[in-house]
Amino acid sequence: MNPSDNSKRLLSAHCLALNQGEVRNIFWLAALLLTACTGVDDASTSPKEGYFKVGSIHADADFDGARLNKLEQIDDAIYRVTISPEALPVNNSPWYAFRLWSDDNLNIELEIAYTDSFKNRYLPKRSKDGEVWQTIDSSLLSTDTTTGILTINLELGPEKLWIAAQENLNTPYIENWIDQLAERPTVEKAEIGNSVLGHPLLALTVAEGRPEQALFIVGRQHPPEVPGGTISLMNFVEEVLGESELATQFRERFAVYMVSLANPDGVSMGHWRHNANGVDLNRDWIDFTQPETQLIRDWMLSRPHGSYNQGARFGIDFHTSYSGPYLLTLDTIPHRVSPQRTNQWIASIESQLQEELDIRPRSQDFPYCYNWFINQLGVEAVTYEEGDEKPRSEIRERARLYARILMEVLLSND
Ligand SMILES: [Zn+2]
Repeated sequence: MNPSDNSKRLLSAHCLALNQGEVRNIFWLAALLLTACTGVDDASTSPKEGYFKVGSIHADADFDGARLNKLEQIDDAIYRVTISPEALPVNNSPWYAFRLWSDDNLNIELEIAYTDSFKNRYLPKRSKDGEVWQTIDSSLLSTDTTTGILTINLELGPEKLWIAAQENLNTPYIENWIDQLAERPTVEKAEIGNSVLGHPLLALTVAEGRPEQALFIVGRQHPPEVPGGTISLMNFVEEVLGESELATQFRERFAVYMVSLANPDGVSMGHWRHNANGVDLNRDWIDFTQPETQLIRDWMLSRPHGSYNQGARFGIDFHTSYSGPYLLTLDTIPHRVSPQRTNQWIASIESQLQEELDIRPRSQDFPYCYNWFINQLGVEAVTYEEGDEKPRSEIRERARLYARILMEVLLSND
C-alpha cells in the first residue's frame, strides 16, 4: 500500500413486513448490482447480468466479492477472462473473482487478462464452494511477463469452480465473524453509520471490567488485501480475545476498539482499491471526504478512551503488500508521540524470532489511517503489512505472536 509499491508492477416482499435494516440491505444490494453491471461486455453477456456464456463454457460474477468483465474464446481450448479496475488511476492490485463451469467435462487453458496495461499480481486460488480455498498448483500456471496475462490449465465440468485472486473472504464472511465475537458478553457490536451504498459499518468494543487504556484496530480499507487485512487481523484479534492468562490480564486493563471491515462496498464489488465513490480510503485520513473514514474517526474519538489523555495507547491498521511482511512506523523526526512501545515490541519480536523485521519509517504527513492514530489520537501506531502469497499458516502464526508480544509490551508500560 505504500508509494513504493507502484514500482513493483514488474511481477509479475414481503413488502409490508420489512424492517428498516432489511430495507437498507435491499437498497444496498440493488445499488451493488447496478454498479457491478456497468462495464460488462455486451457481446458475451446474457440478459442475466453478471452471467457469461461462450460455447459450452459458462462464467458468472453473481456473488459478493466477484469481479469479471468479459469472457471470450480465443482458440479451440483457449478462453480468456478480462478484468477491469473500478476506477483509474489505481495501483496494480488486480483483483478477480468468478465462477466457471462447462456443459461437458473438458480441459481448457484459461487466460486472465487485464485492461489498461495492468499485469497479473496474485496467484489464483480455487474453491468448490466459495469457502474452502487453495492456491492453484504452480505447475498449472504460466505468466507472460510482457503482456501480464496469466494462463491456468483447468479441468472443467458441470460443477461450478470458484477462481479468485485471494481467498474470497468477503463482506458476509467478515460480518459473520463479527457476529460470533459479539455473542460474548464483554463484546459489543455497533452499527456506526452507513457506507456510500448504505451498508452498515460495524464496530466492536471489547471491554471487560473497567479498562483504563485502549487498543485501536482497523482493517480492509483496501479490498483485495485479504492476507493481512483479514487473516492477520482475525488471528491477532482472536489472540487478544483468547483465554490465555496474558490475554485475560490484558483485557482487564485495555479496551479494544475495532472496525475490521472499513470498506464493505469495495469488498462486495470486488474493487481493486477504492470505496464506492472511487476513493482510496487510506488516503482520506486528513481530508475525510468519505462516509467510511468520517464514521470510523467519529466513533473512535467518541470512545471512553478516545484520546491519549483518556488512555488511548496503540493503533494498528492491517494491510497486504507484494513485498510484505513489514511494518510502517513513525519516521525518525521527533514527534509528540515517542516510539517507545513500538520499539520494544519490534525488539522483542526480533529477539524471539532471531531475525530482523522489515521496518519502514514513513513521514507522518501522509493521509494514512495510522498517521491519524499518531497525529490525532496521540497514540503509537503502525500499518501492519502482510505479503500477498506468504503461506497462510505463517501469516496466522505471525499475527498471534505479534499480538502476544504487543500485549506484554503494553502491559509493561502500563
Ligand atoms: Zn493497503
